[in-house]
Amino acid sequence: MRRTKKDYYEILGVPRNATKEQIDAAFAKLAMKWHPDRVPPEKKEEAERRFKEISEAYSVLSDPEKRRLYDMGVDPEGGAPGGATYDFSGMGLEEIFERIFGRGFGGFEDIFSDVFGFHRRRVEREEDLDVYVDVNLSLEEIVRGTVKRIGYRRRVLCPRCGGAGVENPRVCGTCGGTGRVRRQQGTIFGFFVIERPCPTCGGTGTTGDRCTRCGGKGYVYEEVEEDLEIPAGVLDGQKVVYRGRGHVGRSGRGRLVIRVHEKPHNRFKRRERDVIYTAEISPARAVLGGEIGVPDLEGGVVKVKVPRGVQHGEVFTRLKGRGVPDPKTGKRGDLLVEARIRIPTEISKRERKLYEELLKLEEQP
Ligand SMILES: [Zn+2]
Ligand SMILES: [Zn+2]
Repeated sequence: MRRTKKDYYEILGVPRNATKEQIDAAFAKLAMKWHPDRVPPEKKEEAERRFKEISEAYSVLSDPEKRRLYDMGVDPEGGAPGGATYDFSGMGLEEIFERIFGRGFGGFEDIFSDVFGFHRRRVEREEDLDVYVDVNLSLEEIVRGTVKRIGYRRRVLCPRCGGAGVENPRVCGTCGGTGRVRRQQGTIFGFFVIERPCPTCGGTGTTGDRCTRCGGKGYVYEEVEEDLEIPAGVLDGQKVVYRGRGHVGRSGRGRLVIRVHEKPHNRFKRRERDVIYTAEISPARAVLGGEIGVPDLEGGVVKVKVPRGVQHGEVFTRLKGRGVPDPKTGKRGDLLVEARIRIPTEISKRERKLYEELLKLEEQP
């Protein structure tokens, strides 16, 4: 039994009761800071020493059994040759993180880039390239179709770097443009040549200055305003899709999706593709019948017959094909006219006389 000298908790900067997740995160953070490939040459020596130290601390504290022994004051490695579980020397950061956090760790840049300033080109997964815009339309606009000025914001390739994210591209000096680097590594079994993606260029073979316009992302946002045709018959809640007007991404260009909302109308009610107009009718007209003018949805007026004795709430006319068109077939619904008998509240002397006479007639036995 040998007493260990180093305080692994202190090296990783975690409390003695730290969880596995805290230990992983602390190591990831320190590995980013001290990975020998990520420091300037004058700091290389210090980085190699620190990196070895944090790797050793992590290999012990991340293993429950070794951590238990360590907590008891026993050297968990027991001096065994090459016993370290994690020998990270000579590994790129990506490989290290994949080893710790498992496969599919490609998304780690998303998690760590903002926090730790890890600045390789971000890989987007399952990108939604569609842009959504809401538009309010009146019933008349829906019936006739309309042209609307639509403003939206979309992502486009950076015009300065053409989407590469770098300016003044040049062949990577570290790998000579191959994107891979080899390193000879001595182990207890002998020397091995390890090949891995070039840490300087990330495997692309080229480097350059980060683009000053897009900050290396390759994309910028642009404000767009354009007149777009909304076809007739698109109802509340339905969408109109314009291809090729959305965001630019790896899989091409997305769509602009306009969601239509219908403004409530004070004279017309819509029922599917039929439209109901409420006609105000006086008691005398209701009794005698006749002809009235009804506005249609194109801004015109249609003459319709009111039947004698029409009742309040009765739909007495159906104007075929004057409703909302179906955008696919062009077939239109109907315009229905509903009676609303309006009782006058203010009447002239003469009207009063006539109503009194009517009432007398009604009450005669
Ligand atoms: Zn750019
Ligand atoms: Zn390179």
